[in-house]
Amino acid sequence: MLVLQTGSIFASTKEGFVQDYFIIGQGLAGSVLALKLLEQGKRIHVFESPQPNTSSTIAAGLMNPVTGKRMTVSWRADEMFPIASRFYQKQESLLNTSFFYPMPVYRVFSSVGEQNDWTAKMHESRYSRFISPDAIEALDATQFRNPFGGLKVTGGGRLDVPQLMDATRKRLLEEGCFSLRHISAEDIQTIGEGYSIGEHQARRVVFCTGVDMDNWGFLPFTPMKGEVLEVEAPQHDREKIVVGGCFFSPKTNGNFYVGATYDWRNLNLVRTEKAKLELLERLGRFVEGNPKVVDHRVGVRPAVKDRRPMLGQHPEMKGYYLLGGFGSKGVSMAPYLADCLIAHMEHGQELDVELNLRRFL
Ligand SMILES: Cc1cc2nc3c(=O)[nH]c(=O)nc-3n(C[C@H](O)[C@H](O)[C@H](O)COP(=O)(O)OP(=O)(O)OC[C@H]3O[C@@H](n4cnc5c(N)ncnc54)[C@H](O)[C@@H]3O)c2cc1C
Repeated sequence: MLVLQTGSIFASTKEGFVQDYFIIGQGLAGSVLALKLLEQGKRIHVFESPQPNTSSTIAAGLMNPVTGKRMTVSWRADEMFPIASRFYQKQESLLNTSFFYPMPVYRVFSSVGEQNDWTAKMHESRYSRFISPDAIEALDATQFRNPFGGLKVTGGGRLDVPQLMDATRKRLLEEGCFSLRHISAEDIQTIGEGYSIGEHQARRVVFCTGVDMDNWGFLPFTPMKGEVLEVEAPQHDREKIVVGGCFFSPKTNGNFYVGATYDWRNLNLVRTEKAKLELLERLGRFVEGNPKVVDHRVGVRPAVKDRRPMLGQHPEMKGYYLLGGFGSKGVSMAPYLADCLIAHMEHGQELDVELNLRRFL
């Protein structure tokens, strides 16, 4: 049973007793935030539930700056992509492991009309960071069905998200600031101007809990189920991601990801034959060789009604913060958003209206 205390306990911060931050959840959001706070010399403690099938463990980890049927430059890609690439590369060297693989993303043209459109518009300045003037290429026809060629997009790549999380966990364990424990609302006690969880105290709590939104139920989360396949395709090039009706992306273990589906209605973790057949049908349109399915996985993405992330302080609970709503683009957004939240918490820097959870209050 916790005894509520006042200011005295926070006086011990100077002696190194109280943490600056609790982080609840060590998916992609919690991992990136934890690494950034440690880099800044902050004292943290991270709590993570032992849950399988979280969005970050299922994610294919693509960072693709030009997306969608109409192939538009992703929201704030000019700012976010360079920050993300630099951050992941730096962490690879600090954590002494590999998890980030910059590589081109090829978009296979479906018709000569599409090829003509891109021949005209690829020189527009809005694409210049990601599409070079010689970006239209033919892919190896023994591997990819691409009679009209494809567009090479640079500046992206893939992150092995589970590997990043494992390396982060190892670092947190070395620092003695990680607990494998589900935290419910009752576990967090107010203490002076901060909070306690068990024997730990901290000034602020940051929720990085993905779709698990206790305390934040007033926000318009619209979670989105996704299914992804793992296939064997030993003859295929591992140095690029190829997008046709779906993506075909190398995986660290030598196989490939094929994905993903989007389902707003059935928010369960059930793998469906329908999704598998749909992905295989789309794959067959542009990938040669009938890759063999070796795994089929499902997760739910933490998405938001207006397709933007959500950051900021709880309107009633001072010191409670949220970093979430990453939807299907967490990999490219996480490092930038963690910077924004830290600047807000540490220096009172205003959050951009498009990111701030207050837009829904
Ligand atoms: C099929 C699929 C494919 C995807 N592909 C891509 C992709 O290619 N590129 C991309 O950028 N994104 C992709 N995503 C989306 C990506 O997974 C998310 O944007 C991102 O991983 C979300 O990270 P998060 O940390 O916010 O949430 P989560 O991954 O859900 O992490 C939340 C963590 O909090 C923990 N937690 C929750 N509640 C508690 C609690 N009360 N106490 C303690 N711990 C708690 C959970 O155990 C979990 O580990 C994909 C998602 C799916 C489902």
